[in-house]
Amino acid sequence: MSIHPTDLSQPVIISAALTGSWPTKADNPAVPITEEEIAEAAVAAHKAGAAIVHLHVRNDQGKVTCDPARYAKARDLIRAAGSDVIINMSTGGGAGQTTDEQRMEPVSLKPEIASFDCGSTNFGKTVFINSPSFLDELAKRMLENNVLPEIECFEPGHVANAIRLIDEGKIKPPFWFQVVLNLRGASPGTVKQLLNMVEMLPAGAMWSVCAIGRAQLPINVAALAMGGHVRTGLEDNIFYHKGQLAESNAQLVARLARIANEIGRPVATSAEARTMLGLPQL
Ligand code: ZN
Repeated sequence: MSIHPTDLSQPVIISAALTGSWPTKADNPAVPITEEEIAEAAVAAHKAGAAIVHLHVRNDQGKVTCDPARYAKARDLIRAAGSDVIINMSTGGGAGQTTDEQRMEPVSLKPEIASFDCGSTNFGKTVFINSPSFLDELAKRMLENNVLPEIECFEPGHVANAIRLIDEGKIKPPFWFQVVLNLRGASPGTVKQLLNMVEMLPAGAMWSVCAIGRAQLPINVAALAMGGHVRTGLEDNIFYHKGQLAESNAQLVARLARIANEIGRPVATSAEARTMLGLPQL
């Protein structure tokens, strides 16, 4: 009997979180804010190896909004540019800046994926509230609209919440998790914490990880070695190296694609990722 190394032949799905709710051009001029900039960044990230783009949109003042018209415009610009990248719309809003009802509005656009923040947490200086009643309603609307929830778990209790929702039949397979580490107020960005949360996931779940700030790249690399999937992008980290701003979302994606290739992980195309996630092809 021998111990086999981790099977790394499974293609890696790279997600690019382009904008987020918080970073501004003052933080990094490469953060895309308008729908045009977001679409351009999405197309470039896709070309660099991202199978999925995770979108937030901003208003004319550059502040977070959940306006479905803006989401629809960004989506339409991406498609008009000929990109088949999978579009994941955020339902996160901005902690404390948007109502629960506003946060659910993008689901009505029937994106292929939408984020599903599976519990409450401190979030920098504020609190990101995802009450049980909100999660029940969001899960219901995602099922009705045939949207795949990306189950974001900021700490182990959020995985337990997800398992409860699955047991109650409110989230149906396939299960697609995004472990979120190193958010100030939640779980540390350590490999041990990643292992702990991944080991809690229900059988058959697929998982990706993102880590905020300086933990982004090392945790992504750990996930590549574990056979998991990865998310990068300026939403999570505005730097390329310590003290050196990233030039673009595509630059961060390209680095991960290079590392994946070096360790023998093929990078999934959007069509391959659709098959893996049980999504219909475009
Ligand atoms: Zn997000």
